[in-house]
Amino acid sequence: MISDARWTVIRATKGFMPEAEGIALAEAAHAAALAVGGPLLEIGTYCGKSAIHLGCAAEATDTVLYTVDHHRGSEENQAGWDHHDTEVVDPATGRMDTLPFFRRAIEAAGLERSVVAVIGHSVPVARSWATPLGFLFIDGGHALDVAMADYEHWAGFVKPGGTLAIHDVFEHKEEGGQAPFEVWTRAVADGFAPIGTTGSLRTLRRA
Ligand code: SAH
Ligand code: MG
Repeated sequence: MISDARWTVIRATKGFMPEAEGIALAEAAHAAALAVGGPLLEIGTYCGKSAIHLGCAAEATDTVLYTVDHHRGSEENQAGWDHHDTEVVDPATGRMDTLPFFRRAIEAAGLERSVVAVIGHSVPVARSWATPLGFLFIDGGHALDVAMADYEHWAGFVKPGGTLAIHDVFEHKEEGGQAPFEVWTRAVADGFAPIGTTGSLRTLRRA
């Protein structure tokens, strides 16, 4: 589904999306869009790596991906943390700014008509959001309060039969942070049915 030219862009884009998981993510989004329509929405753009995968699915199904991020990085992306990259710090302000990297990636991938950036904090965006979603991907901040707030404010927009995807789900704390797993557990308790696992990516269908 993804052309060689786009793979080149994906591989050159900074981010946190293993290839097999990116492929599974796009396939799940594609299937959801065919089943219930779009649009698709991602929380956690960073530099656009997963947005290219999802943008391909949006383009192929004639819908769009909205990708929400304030582009200032999560707690775990800040200086002193494991996932910090000094290249994404704006020298003028000393703060992270991944938006220019995202803009370049989406341009290089030729997906400007299929990927719509929403620049802001997830919860305030959700408060005035109104559009039902065929596919929701939660990959924003991984602190428990942040990840759970994303779920609580956005999961209700998933259409019946639509798909919720959660990234970085690790069942055991030796493998990684537990917040996405707690969100997944909550989603199952709320009636979302697990449909797939690829690496740390889990997909669920809304009843
Ligand atoms: N999906 C990306 C990785 C996302 S990293 C990839 O494929 O590589 C997580 C992102 O979530 C960061 O860019 C951070 O700025 C963003 N983020 C964290 N908390 C957020 C919030 N409350 N609202 C919006 N964006 C947030
Ligand atoms: Mg992730």
